[in-house]
Amino acid sequence: MTTIKLHNTRTRAKEDFVPISADNVRMYVCGPTVYDRAHLGNARPVVVFDVLYRLLRHVYGADQVTYVRNFTDVDDKINATALARQKAGADGTLEQLVQERSDETIGWYLHDMGALGALEPDEMPRATQYIAQMVAMIEDLIAKGHAYAAEGHVLFAVDSWKEHYGALSGRSVDDMIAGARVEVAPYKRNPMDFVLWKPSTDELPGWDSPWGRGRPGWHIECSAMSYELLGESFDIHGGGNDLMFPHHENEIAQSKCAHPHGEFARYWLHNEMLQVEGKKMSKSLGNFFTVHDLLEQGVPGEVIRFVFLQTHYRKPMDWTEKKAREAEATLRKWRALTAGIEPAASAAPAVVAALSDDLNTAGALAELHRLAADGDAASLLAGAQLLGLLSQEMGAWADTASVDLSSHADRLSDARASAMQSKDFSEVDRLKAAYLAAGLEVRMSKDGVELVPGTGFDAAKLEGV
Ligand SMILES: [Zn+2]
Repeated sequence: MTTIKLHNTRTRAKEDFVPISADNVRMYVCGPTVYDRAHLGNARPVVVFDVLYRLLRHVYGADQVTYVRNFTDVDDKINATALARQKAGADGTLEQLVQERSDETIGWYLHDMGALGALEPDEMPRATQYIAQMVAMIEDLIAKGHAYAAEGHVLFAVDSWKEHYGALSGRSVDDMIAGARVEVAPYKRNPMDFVLWKPSTDELPGWDSPWGRGRPGWHIECSAMSYELLGESFDIHGGGNDLMFPHHENEIAQSKCAHPHGEFARYWLHNEMLQVEGKKMSKSLGNFFTVHDLLEQGVPGEVIRFVFLQTHYRKPMDWTEKKAREAEATLRKWRALTAGIEPAASAAPAVVAALSDDLNTAGALAELHRLAADGDAASLLAGAQLLGLLSQEMGAWADTASVDLSSHADRLSDARASAMQSKDFSEVDRLKAAYLAAGLEVRMSKDGVELVPGTGFDAAKLEGV
């Protein structure tokens, strides 16, 4: 069996991946807060862990892998939208309007991530469906002396686990207090103590609890849901490296204190962040856009995925238009090469080996380039599909079979012939401009006219030419 090597944040080393149980490999990834459209940076962990999910399924079998990714649907921004809608006269209780907003954004999210070729995880729990489990876990933490109630809040007592807290991100509690922006509140015993439960006002959704009507803090949901769905010990925990502290540190503290005999997660994987044209993505820089924006602009999801895969997940990734154009040209070439071909029975060993080396997706793409250069279309197809590329359902953008380019070429050829007689080239110029605008390369020689789809080819633009 292939040995997968993964860089484990917990040990700061690349290790052989040994699952707790090879017939149930379990992975938990922190999912999105569903208050709006996902921006491009949100898509990076989705693609990274989708590749890992596909690799695990390839090595251990599709039915032997359980992938859980949550939806955070308890959030002030969701509340704000729901409240604004209620004030504008929308029907329903605040809780119903919150759920409506979450349903809407979850639908967008699944659509947009699906367009990037991401498989849906086996379980996609929503925080609001696990409130009872969170309350039970918080009660257990209080009973074990790791949490305390104060003024309607429940806080995790970091001092009760001080020697372990901070191990994942490599900080001590004292360093964190000195360096972090911690919320100082009179009811906290230690400024690093974090919220497990907080009170809700009438303008906020809330649930009854032993500490009054309130709602959970963010961190507890992942501890409660991973325990419910994967148990007290599971294999892989993933997320962006912006979640390492405090979110993952807090998940570990909660889970290890509630289930001291469990391991919680054995391997911790963190992806680096995404930039745009060399700059951090931000609303103030005007380079902030969503996956949906790109798809609407006609950038195919497969192209976005390809660009993502070119950079190793532990390195910062730069999204550039140039990369997107080059990725589109490569995919178009590969799609033409593999059209009508059946994929090889299994992915080429070199492709699997690259992925198994801590998800070296760039190395795997290099192997695919080699297979394409060798003209080995069947192996190219099988390898690309392991990476989530060249699938049938993602290929509509590159589908030129339905467009009769030769009839357009004949038209241009005829127009040229009559222009030679009349010396009026306006129709030739008009046609050429229209074909170029549709993303076609126009090759005219004395032998005839050829139209070749180039980057950005859009068959819809040929209608009405
Ligand atoms: Zn989480």
